[in-house]
Amino acid sequence: MTGLDRTVVVGVSAAGLTAAETLRREGYTGRLTLVGAEPHLPYDRPPLSKQILRGSWTPDRVALRREDALAALDAEWLLGQAAAGLDVAARTVTLDGGQLLGYDGLVIATGVAPRSLPQGHELAGVHLLRTLDDALALREGLLSAGSVVIVGAGFLGAEAASVARELGADVTLVDPLPAPMIRQLGAQVAGLVTQLHTRHGVRVRTRTGVRRLAGENGRVVGVHLDDGSLVPADLVLVAVGSAPAVGWLGGSGLPLGDGVECDALCRAAPGVVAAGDVASWHHPDLGRLRVEHRMNATEQGTAAALTLLGGGRPFAPVPYFWTDQYDVKIQAYGVTRQEAEFRVVAGHPDEGRFAALYGARGRVVGALSWNMPREARALRPYVAEHVPWEEAPAGDPHPVSTA
Ligand SMILES: Cc1cc2nc3c(=O)[nH]c(=O)nc-3n(C[C@H](O)[C@H](O)[C@H](O)COP(=O)(O)OP(=O)(O)OC[C@H]3O[C@@H](n4cnc5c(N)ncnc54)[C@H](O)[C@@H]3O)c2cc1C
Repeated sequence: MTGLDRTVVVGVSAAGLTAAETLRREGYTGRLTLVGAEPHLPYDRPPLSKQILRGSWTPDRVALRREDALAALDAEWLLGQAAAGLDVAARTVTLDGGQLLGYDGLVIATGVAPRSLPQGHELAGVHLLRTLDDALALREGLLSAGSVVIVGAGFLGAEAASVARELGADVTLVDPLPAPMIRQLGAQVAGLVTQLHTRHGVRVRTRTGVRRLAGENGRVVGVHLDDGSLVPADLVLVAVGSAPAVGWLGGSGLPLGDGVECDALCRAAPGVVAAGDVASWHHPDLGRLRVEHRMNATEQGTAAALTLLGGGRPFAPVPYFWTDQYDVKIQAYGVTRQEAEFRVVAGHPDEGRFAALYGARGRVVGALSWNMPREARALRPYVAEHVPWEEAPAGDPHPVSTA
């Protein structure tokens, strides 16, 4: 063991909690302090835009652990308190209430915060979606909303659009890019996502941004688009991406770029590691990377804690995410972006289920399944092993028209 005696974890969600659990599992017996800005015990975010929004789960089901498992961590919990500053040389974290916490090991796991529009958030009926409280407020709003505009067609916006339709709202999904989720899935699959939403009655307004939100008597009533049109709305969800929650690290001397910049072992400074959505690290195969997905938060929380204990190894996961929209589950491994080559290797989009590979520079770089989870798992090794494109399963490179 490393002589670690006093560890502070800032941000107690998927990444921070996993790091804390890993420390204890690996035999760390020193003091453990968990600092979380939210008042809630650790909970899971993916259900917020799915089961919680739909109302099929009560809020208690999103808890990441039972209370007895949390108690077994033998940690000091400082919830509802945000870290406000870090002094790397003195090895102290300052909380927003002024309290100073010394550490010899620090895990930074503060995640991301949703981006806002430049104007309009003061209006009633305008929502963001990141926390449990956000999700409950959004659900409440959706239950009485007739017309809903969702600004931003990334995975959050697209998931929320599908639930809003299920709840009976009239939904418009707006994005300046050519198709929903095109950045995550590439043009071909994004074209299918457009079709999926259109089939379910969503008006997909792509290639146009938002000029401003329109309000009357303090309530949102519509959205002015860049193309000059006005879309009426009594609820607007702004889902235009997020930014790493690093405001509290300004002046700390930590390298901050797109998040906390770490080396391959998730190390940002002596005694300081970062994990989850906030961490940008050097992936041995993929270069500098920051991943905003749930499985990565857990895997990197483990990796970062092992580094703190002196047993770290380069963190080299195969990135993975999933999204649920209507009756479709999409799962993706590796790099499934636009510039990659693409071919369907099982099923067919017309059948509502298929699996596909993405290639770049002559190798397989990604795999995706659309309602074919077993195939996704079967294709993962091609991604993990960077199999040459011509040795990978053959299939149809043009199964759908591009978006
Ligand atoms: C609605 C929603 C749906 C999602 N669905 C999916 C999905 O289907 N599939 C998927 O792969 N991923 C999904 N994700 C992404 C996934 O939830 C995240 O990747 C994951 O939560 C990241 O975990 P984290 O611990 O790094 O950060 P977070 O979960 O963001 O936790 C960070 C915590 O740190 C706290 N914090 C921030 N600043 C401070 C501070 N200064 N001091 C103290 N505490 C602080 C925050 O309050 C927060 O509790 C979804 C995310 C959201 C919001």
